[in-house]
Amino acid sequence: MIRYQLACEHEHAFEAWFGSIAAFEKQRARALVVCPQCGSTHVDRSPMAPAVVTGKAKVSAAKAQPDNANLAVHSGTGAELQKLKATLLENSEAVGERFAEEARKIHFNEAAPRSIHGQASFDEARGLVEDGIPFGVLPILPSERN
Ligand SMILES: [Zn+2]
Repeated sequence: MIRYQLACEHEHAFEAWFGSIAAFEKQRARALVVCPQCGSTHVDRSPMAPAVVTGKAKVSAAKAQPDNANLAVHSGTGAELQKLKATLLENSEAVGERFAEEARKIHFNEAAPRSIHGQASFDEARGLVEDGIPFGVLPILPSERN
């Protein structure tokens, strides 16, 4: 037996049991399925209740997104990196090989606070890290590799 949720043309909802969908169709065709409220034989199965979509899938997708976003930033196109690098260089003073020295002076307030860029050896960079002096390393872009 299958329980069907039915409704007549006047949207009177009711339930009825049928042996099969074929049995239901057959009885309906013969006007044997009657609305208990108004006697109408224009009866059909009610539309299915809309499926409930929980937010769970979306939440987990949103949680996963920050990682993806970071990935997108790190794997930015060469053009984007080039632009970013150009902006950084434009807005900072070129100090060349005195970078580590200047960075240290700025950090210890021995020089005017400003953004600088230049070159540092591996040892110099390590020294800055050890002294807790913040600095960033600019990527060497594919277009600059020759
Ligand atoms: Zn009815």
